[in-house]
Amino acid sequence: MSKSGRLIILSGPSGVGKSTIRDLVVARSPITIHLSVSATTRAPRLGERDGVDYFFLSNDEFQNLRQQDQFVECQEVFGRNIWYGTLRREVEQHLSAGVWVLLEIDVDGAREVVKKYPDAITIFIAPRSLEALEERLRSRGTESEEAMRHRLARAEYEINQSAFYKYNVVNDVLETAVHDFCEIIRQEEFSGGTK
Ligand code: 5GP
Repeated sequence: MSKSGRLIILSGPSGVGKSTIRDLVVARSPITIHLSVSATTRAPRLGERDGVDYFFLSNDEFQNLRQQDQFVECQEVFGRNIWYGTLRREVEQHLSAGVWVLLEIDVDGAREVVKKYPDAITIFIAPRSLEALEERLRSRGTESEEAMRHRLARAEYEINQSAFYKYNVVNDVLETAVHDFCEIIRQEEFSGGTK
C-alpha cells in the first residue's frame, strides 16, 4: 500500500509573515507540498485571486457547504460573521495520494484538525514582539482601524496558545525563519511521522 502524505498545520497571528515564509519553504522543499486553499466569506484584498488565495464565498454559499459537511474544520476567526474553513477536497485526496498538504489556519482551527489528524506537524510562526507585529500590520495598510484592533487582540490570543504547537519559529530574520522551517520538514520526513 502506498504511504499517505503528511499534514502540516501552520498558524501565527495575522501580519506575522506566514504566507511569505510558506511560499519560500514550498519553493525550496524537495517534497511536493500542496497548499490547501481555504474558503472564506471575507472580501478579497487587492490582488487576491479566487481559487488561488482563497475561495471567496457568500455567507449562504459557505453555510451550504457547512451543512453538506464539506469542511474539515471551519471558524468565525475574527467574529463579525467572517468565516474561514478548510475544505475536505483540499486535504483528503492529496493525503491519500501520498502528497504532503499544508494548511494555514488559525489556532482554533488547528485544534480541530489535530483531533482528526493527530500526526499533523504543527508549526507556529511568532513575531519578535507584539510591537513589531503592529508595525507590520500597519505598514500593510489593508485593514480599517477597527479591523486592526480585532487583529491585534486576536494576535495576543493566538500567541498565548503557541505552546500547543510542536514547533515555534520566530519570524525576526526572514531567512532564518525559512531555514528553521525547512529543517523541521527535513527532520519530519526523516522520522517518517514516528514519535
Ligand atoms: P487573512 O484574513 O489575513 O487572510 O487570514 C486571517 C486568519 O484566518 C489567519 O490567521 C489565517 O491563518 C486564518 N485562516 C485562513 N484560512 C483558514 C481556515 O481555513 N480555517 C481557519 N480556522 N482559519 C483560517
